[in-house]
Amino acid sequence: MAKSHDLLVIGAGPGGYIAAIRAAQLGLDVACVEGEAALGGTCLRIGCIPSKALLEASQRLYEAQHHSAEFGIEISGIRLDLARMLQRKDEVVRSLTQGVAQLLKKNKVTRYEGWASFLSPSRVNIQASSGSLEVVAKHVVIATGSSVTPLPGVVLDGDRVGTSTEALSYSEVPKHLVVIGAGVIGLEMGSVWSRLGAQVTVLEFLDRILPGMDSEIANEAKRIFEKQGLVFRLGAKVVGASAQGNECSVQIEGEAPLSCDRVLLAVGRRPNTEGLNLAAAGVELDSKGRVIVDEAFRTKTPGVYAIGDVIAGPMLAHKAEEEGVACVEHIVKGFSHINYDAIPNVVYTHPEIASVGKTEEELKAAGVDYRKGSFPFIANARAKALGATQGRVKVLADSQTDRILGVHILGPHAGDLIAEAAVAIEFGASAEDLARSSHAHPTLAEALKEAALAVDGRALNI
Ligand code: NAD
Repeated sequence: MAKSHDLLVIGAGPGGYIAAIRAAQLGLDVACVEGEAALGGTCLRIGCIPSKALLEASQRLYEAQHHSAEFGIEISGIRLDLARMLQRKDEVVRSLTQGVAQLLKKNKVTRYEGWASFLSPSRVNIQASSGSLEVVAKHVVIATGSSVTPLPGVVLDGDRVGTSTEALSYSEVPKHLVVIGAGVIGLEMGSVWSRLGAQVTVLEFLDRILPGMDSEIANEAKRIFEKQGLVFRLGAKVVGASAQGNECSVQIEGEAPLSCDRVLLAVGRRPNTEGLNLAAAGVELDSKGRVIVDEAFRTKTPGVYAIGDVIAGPMLAHKAEEEGVACVEHIVKGFSHINYDAIPNVVYTHPEIASVGKTEEELKAAGVDYRKGSFPFIANARAKALGATQGRVKVLADSQTDRILGVHILGPHAGDLIAEAAVAIEFGASAEDLARSSHAHPTLAEALKEAALAVDGRALNI
């Protein structure tokens, strides 16, 4: 006989497991099905978390090698123990994925291990190696995430020519790593292996890096990354890549092929809908293969919902989390809301790049009259003391109302600093509000206050 629940969440990534916990808090009988043995989805297993563990470790090595002397610290005999570095990354992942299992248990969420596919809108088959079972639920949330977009001609072999998954576990430092795509993954993983000693060439189809981010900030970041040793080839359209033994060859349209010993494909991600038998649920996809939902995350079929990377919008863990919460609150309470303009975006390079709200390009395209305040970290006392003076904070505010429309940060701890800007936008703050709020001295956050003051030409420390 089929097991029965109020709600079944398909996928235990940041969107799915958070939706399950929130629904349990709201009193539903909840189950969550996940095909992978470890919970937490791409983010915890092979994405955000392991990459951050390696970014931190590689930056520590880089600092010790290149910046300790300026702090009056002489270190000799620095040696990379890559196996230990990778092991630590795996330990971080293991403890967090186990933490998700405990959270589900604590919230009395029933966990099913196996791959789910629809039999009807309310009936799902779960296929595990040990057999299959059926679950019936009043509500089903699809939270199956995304996976790497393949590129025609690029032969992924799970080893030499691979994706971010392989790049999290290279057993030795590549001599020459070619990264296809100067997006978030390309820059983060390219930085890791460059710091660990690899020659890194990033091939990008467009004439800029980080499409979608504020271009002034992205251009400044590119110059910094070049000084760190990354080589960018813009306007380079990759049309093929393959490995022969330990050697790889990358084909670029109109150019000579490039040889290297590792290739990382990072040209985007696509929604995971295969194998779900969505036809049995009557769910529709858009032209990009994303599940079509309304503002309450309802598909066309009553009782079937979708959140996170599998629907439209930025593919970010925290966006999926917000949608998970909002989706189940809509189911139980009938209302909820997400302000997509207040969802931050962070690239965890060094320095970090973070943004929230509109870019200058977006405001210009929309014909919005805005004022801009900018403040460089070189003029921030704490950044000086930290020896981390690269970058700037940029605040964009409406010319008429002074309401903050966008904040863009390139600099130390930008990913943490952006939280204040996200709250400001969420609460409809003006640049004047931010400028008049007291910021502790000496902190990096003062650069945000100064940039807000600069919107009105009143920065004090420059
Ligand atoms: P991306 O969309 O960020 O960047 C892909 C890049 O590849 C683009 O610049 C594109 O122009 C380029 N490209 C496409 N085809 C090409 C070709 N044939 N030759 C050369 N270049 C080509 O994609 P990504 O870096 O793979 O990241 C995937 C998703 O994962 C993104 O949506 C991102 O938001 C998410 N992600 C987020 C974080 C974070 O928040 N820190 C980290 C990793 C991934």
